[in-house]
Amino acid sequence: MKFGTKAVHAGVEPDPSTGAIMTPIYQTSTYVQESPAKHKGYAYARGANPTRNSLQKSIAVLENGKHGICFSSGMGATDAVIKLLSPGDEVITSNDLYGGSYRMFKKIYEKFGIKFHFIDLSKSANISPYVNSKTKLMWIETPSNPLMNIIDIKACVDLAKTKNILVAVDNTFASPYLQNPLDMGADIVMHSVTKYLGGHSDVIMGALVTNDDKLHQELAFIANSCGAVPGPQDSFLVLRGIKTLHLRMERHCSNGKKIAQYLKGHPKVGKVYWPGFPDHPNHDIAKKQMRDFGGMLSFTLSNDSLKMATKFMESVELFSLAESLGGVESLINHPASMTHASIPKDERIKNGLSDSLIRLSIGVEDVEDLIADLDQALTKV
Ligand SMILES: *Cc1c(COP(=O)(O)O)cnc(C)c1O
Repeated sequence: MKFGTKAVHAGVEPDPSTGAIMTPIYQTSTYVQESPAKHKGYAYARGANPTRNSLQKSIAVLENGKHGICFSSGMGATDAVIKLLSPGDEVITSNDLYGGSYRMFKKIYEKFGIKFHFIDLSKSANISPYVNSKTKLMWIETPSNPLMNIIDIKACVDLAKTKNILVAVDNTFASPYLQNPLDMGADIVMHSVTKYLGGHSDVIMGALVTNDDKLHQELAFIANSCGAVPGPQDSFLVLRGIKTLHLRMERHCSNGKKIAQYLKGHPKVGKVYWPGFPDHPNHDIAKKQMRDFGGMLSFTLSNDSLKMATKFMESVELFSLAESLGGVESLINHPASMTHASIPKDERIKNGLSDSLIRLSIGVEDVEDLIADLDQALTKV
């Protein structure tokens, strides 16, 4: 079955009790049992809920995976993966990471004795020196946030497989429409469902998908034990959002491409970070592992100052200045003071995230209007 058909149908079946075509919102905390421990597969809603189950199936199918588990946020999903580890274990991850993931690894889990190596994973040759007998996990985010670096998933998997290292991919920026890491041999895919999967800026949610039965059981055990599960109303909203994922992604990609090209040709713009440019350092890898290049891009102004970037962000009218991404409406963000403020300044600068960097999440509006808005804001800087 092709992607659009899966997006519309996967995981959703007419409700057995009424035939309702849409999975109902099972707003319940518990389920009545016929006799002690004799029930219909549902005992208590932290463990399972039919609306959530439909969604988990849908996301698993979109990622070509066997099992899906939803969490109350992307960070809740990430947290469950790190809880697979034990004190003394080591993790290899990138130096260009979602700020919240960096904060969790550094501020929460280092004190439990887990060691994280933050390295430039966009060059696979950098990885080997950090691998040792304690390495248990590679945590990969590609395209990366906010610098749109591309990591070769297959190259990481090939190295990890020889050393028994789990590979988890944060696939939030690509969405399952653009990239399916399990097909490349990754063990776990993580999504901030809040972004493209939900798609309408109205839900916070996370998900993990895997093909491995044992790994799934361990993750489901953590999800039920630790309890970061989403509610049925949110699950319903995401089920609804997913039905148009392919349509939205097509528009995000075509708008993203036109805006990247527009910005690149503008004299007041400095560097544009977008993996679709042939001169992007890992353009060939992006072409190999992604279906298209997505709706996220970052850029600096040719007058590379915080003051000008601030002026620009205050001057846009259609783009909303806000954290988050992946919704139908276009957003503009200042990573240094917003999404990535939890990363110390010297770390940020060292990794190429300058004070004037501006990140855009291109929505599904008419691209002419978006370009007109950027154009009028550029005249003001
Ligand atoms: C937003 C985001 C997260 C965190 O997800 P939440 O749903 O906000 O908890 C993780 N990774 C990436 C790449 C994100 O954009």
